Amino acid sequence: MKKLFFRLLYWAGIAKFAAWYNRRRIVFLCYHGVTKRDRRRVTDPTGLHVNHRRFADQLDYLSRRYNIISLQDYLSARAEGRQLPDYSLVLTFDDGFRNFRSVALPLLVARGIPATVFLITGNADHKPEANSDNSWRPEDDQSYLSWPEARRIKDSYGIDFGSHTCSHSPLLSLSTEEITRELGESRDELSRNLSIEKPALSYPKGERSQMLADQARHQGYCCAVTTDRGANEADHDLYTLGRTLIGDDDDRASLAVRVSGLRHWLAWSWDRISPRSSKTGSQAKVRKMSRDVDFQLD
Ligand SMILES: [Zn+2]
Repeated sequence: MKKLFFRLLYWAGIAKFAAWYNRRRIVFLCYHGVTKRDRRRVTDPTGLHVNHRRFADQLDYLSRRYNIISLQDYLSARAEGRQLPDYSLVLTFDDGFRNFRSVALPLLVARGIPATVFLITGNADHKPEANSDNSWRPEDDQSYLSWPEARRIKDSYGIDFGSHTCSHSPLLSLSTEEITRELGESRDELSRNLSIEKPALSYPKGERSQMLADQARHQGYCCAVTTDRGANEADHDLYTLGRTLIGDDDDRASLAVRVSGLRHWLAWSWDRISPRSSKTGSQAKVRKMSRDVDFQLD
């Protein structure tokens, strides 16, 4: 039913109009994995790992309609007060699954598309996998890039890397000391292994707060991304940048509706007309938090 509705919005040109309306806002997309598996694993019910053919189709659509820039280009423009071209978009990948190397990277490189990968740094501390030809293996959907692999990807293809903390623990459930350690050690590991001194941060499971944003800024991160829906205004706070989640369920129409900002507007409108919208304060915050965790792609 939802897919049918998205197709209607797409074919009627409403998504295209929404994209034009939002053309000055900067779209950040959040992917996780890209797989060559044809049938989704039972352990991946929400489609975190996008099938490689669907991913290639998504990239082709985005390349035609959007100006895909690197996160560094975005940050440079912000620092220089320079306006980015209309329809600017940044691609990011959370978790650092090994299928980024074996499946996503060749498709990105073939199209000259930049991207940033947020590593769970505690998972990168292992020996590189044995298959030196980098062909995809089913295990790649559950294993993680090692430091030497990330180094080669960075040096050879210009892919940028950031932190997804050391352990991927939900930060708001940790003590201040534990948060300091998660952000500090992860930053130091990126410096030691990839020579990245001021990395970007991706909050695990999209959990964010003013305290976490202050911590990220204080610990020397250049910016931090959430999984809040919607594109970012030109002067959006650098430590609460919103991203749009993309998964395996997103066919051409669904992708177009999400990236255009229309999906965000529909959700925002629904929040205001549904009975639940009467809940305010902490209740609303908890609801928002549970909706934005990085496993939900509604
Ligand atoms: Zn994650």
